[in-house]
Amino acid sequence: MIVMGIESSCDETGVGIVELRPDGTVTLLADEVASSVDQHVRFGGVVPEIASRAHLEAIVPTMRRALATAGIAKPDVVAATIGPGLAGALLVGSAAAKAYAAAWGVPFYGINHLGSHVAVDALEHGPLPASVALLISGGHTQLLHIRSLGEPIEELGTTVDDAAGEAYDKVARLLGLGYPGGPVLDKLARTGDPRAIAFPRGMTGPRDARHAFSFSGLKTAVARYVEKCERTGEPVPTADVAASFQEAVADVLTMKAVRACTDVGVSTLLLGGGVAANSRVRELAEERCAAAGVELRVPSRRLCTDNGAMVASLGAHLVAAGAQPSPLTVATDPGLSVTVSQP
Ligand code: ATP
Ligand code: MG
Ligand code: FE
Repeated sequence: MIVMGIESSCDETGVGIVELRPDGTVTLLADEVASSVDQHVRFGGVVPEIASRAHLEAIVPTMRRALATAGIAKPDVVAATIGPGLAGALLVGSAAAKAYAAAWGVPFYGINHLGSHVAVDALEHGPLPASVALLISGGHTQLLHIRSLGEPIEELGTTVDDAAGEAYDKVARLLGLGYPGGPVLDKLARTGDPRAIAFPRGMTGPRDARHAFSFSGLKTAVARYVEKCERTGEPVPTADVAASFQEAVADVLTMKAVRACTDVGVSTLLLGGGVAANSRVRELAEERCAAAGVELRVPSRRLCTDNGAMVASLGAHLVAAGAQPSPLTVATDPGLSVTVSQP
């Protein structure tokens, strides 16, 4: 059975196509992404209206490319992100998906974007055992308990303020490094000293919630440090700031994620979302998982950020789990909770 997945929650128009085999395995046939990121650079962040218009222009060509790559005329199922994300952006992708599903006469599945950041891993590493997922993206930072793909997800904890990716983007802007901040800071950090500046580790005090995160204090500490340099006329040591900031983020994320595995009693940790592409997060997660005897699963970098393959993967797992298709009247939900497995 061939499942097409359409992603349009933010600034990436993604169309992925997978095959669900009778034995339940899911393989990737096509993964086409058109990004409008270049159009947002001069604004220093995603402009929702520009993103919606870019989706409108990109959706049909991206879908045609995916069909051509997969070598098929039409899929057996169409799945599309219906939340969470930008309202207008979600509408474009899901309306296109519903229209194609109706025209092709195939079932439609509404997909939770956060669940799909988790489900993408199965494309590369096979069926997912019960695990803890650390979902770290531009809008979310959560520890999740996954029983199996297609089953409801339990949220163990979340950020009380900024998301990890948001912190990256804000700190990059503060250092004048442009947007999006994650990849630039990641690269710059490799040339700096991670021990140069002792930035705070938020939410790690004895009375702080075990599975919650906080990054706004860290962002403020970076701002104060930069201000101090400017006041005293010293040049800002941007590489050291980047490396020390990145160390603080990676330290807290991986410490809490590995600890959550022990708390929940699972031996697999899964990373997902754009920040899972970060080199230090990946490295430190590997070290700490090895030390704790936890198996680590991390998607390849390009599957960490938004794409259509992740939507197709979760769609295929819902079909395999016997979930019913969504009615074509199902609404998009910009604030959809991770705990809703099938909207
Ligand atoms: P959400 O999934 O919460 O709706 P989103 O879809 O915008 O948000 P993703 O596409 O999953 O988020 O990830 C984008 C985020 O990942 C951005 O904040 C970006 O800066 C960050 N990011 C991408 N690559 C890296 C990297 N190498 N290091 C750190 N952060 C990164
Ligand atoms: Mg993006
Ligand atoms: Fe995302």
